[in-house]
Amino acid sequence: MENIDVKDVFKQLYGKEVEAVYKAPARINLIGEHIDYNGGLVFPSTIGIYTKCYFSKRDDKEIHLCSLNKKKAVTRNLDDLSKNGNSWENYPIGAVYTLARNGFKIEQGFNMLFTSEIPMGSGLSSSAAILDLTIYTLKSEYNFDIDNKLVSLIAWETENKYCGLSCGIMDQAIIALGKKNHAMLLDCYKYKYDYFPFDLGDYSLLVLKTNKPRTLTDSKYNERVRECDLALDKLKEKFRHANNLCEYKMEEMDEIKKVLNDDLLYRRVLHVVSENKRVSDFKDALLKNDLKLVGKLLNESHFSLKDNYEVTGEHLDTITKLARENKGCLGARMTGAGFGGCAIAIVKKDSIEEFKKTVISGYSKALGITCDIFECEIPDGVSKE
Ligand code: ADP
Ligand code: MG
Repeated sequence: MENIDVKDVFKQLYGKEVEAVYKAPARINLIGEHIDYNGGLVFPSTIGIYTKCYFSKRDDKEIHLCSLNKKKAVTRNLDDLSKNGNSWENYPIGAVYTLARNGFKIEQGFNMLFTSEIPMGSGLSSSAAILDLTIYTLKSEYNFDIDNKLVSLIAWETENKYCGLSCGIMDQAIIALGKKNHAMLLDCYKYKYDYFPFDLGDYSLLVLKTNKPRTLTDSKYNERVRECDLALDKLKEKFRHANNLCEYKMEEMDEIKKVLNDDLLYRRVLHVVSENKRVSDFKDALLKNDLKLVGKLLNESHFSLKDNYEVTGEHLDTITKLARENKGCLGARMTGAGFGGCAIAIVKKDSIEEFKKTVISGYSKALGITCDIFECEIPDGVSKE
């Protein structure tokens, strides 16, 4: 959608010119899945598709919101920031509410028009994008002293407490703090991070979109969070203290199996502990430019998410299997929460065309729907346009 068109729509909707435009990218996670809320290491990067916010202030206390993706407009008053069922405006309204809770109260109303290239509910984190974007826009326009780390923390608080998803900090952090051509190694317990140049030489990172509509994602996600909390409580009581599951070690898994005496909880912990280790191994492999090992770790991550954490499903399993069958592909895995959504694959640049052809046709033969495959650049995080 061209800028000029959206600005015209804005003027028609609100009778005012756009005063500023902000944008937030989507993200993928290279490795470290379902790890952020377990306090371990994750390795995300931004990707160059965006949600944009067109903004102007108003002369009253009203908030006017519209999403061109939802084709829905909403009017609220700054004095009523209550939640509205599961409606999309909970994200921007929740952001305004959480800003106020943190001492950043907005007194003058505003208009916002959102438009997005990020598919909603596909695991590329359109939710953290719209949250970081709303908070970044408001802190910029109302001159609040909020750095990008605090943007992510307010977004995280909104998604947890207002929207009701018990998510970790990864998505909000990478979208707020992402750096061009770099991936981010993030310690989710300490909230400390380092940037790593992400250049795969003769290889490219591809995003594979299954186009499976997600169902039950939020409830299944919250269920996994609860299972991990339960396992941690048991291990703290009967094994040894830890602040989070990622503080346990692979060498302790035999003992942990005995102590838990519960196959399901054991497999959840096995995924978390092994995945956390894979993130460190992945970082080492990247530093040594050992791309074969990078690919192998992606595959192992997927299998653990499939067999131990049980969050993949037929569509993600099929698309990653088809990906791996290509000789130019070093590895593939689901990315994001799972249950549908997207996967990533590392593919030799001169094999990409062949890869796309075989995966797209194999996928539609197997499941009767089309998938999308695209390459992405890594841009900076949320910013003013
Ligand atoms: P994901 O973050 O993987 O895209 P979620 O289910 O966490 O999926 O978030 C998707 C929800 O976020 C949408 O259903 C909608 O409520 C909200 N949302 C995200 N982007 C937009 C947008 N551009 N316009 C309106 N709502 C949006
Ligand atoms: Mg989300």
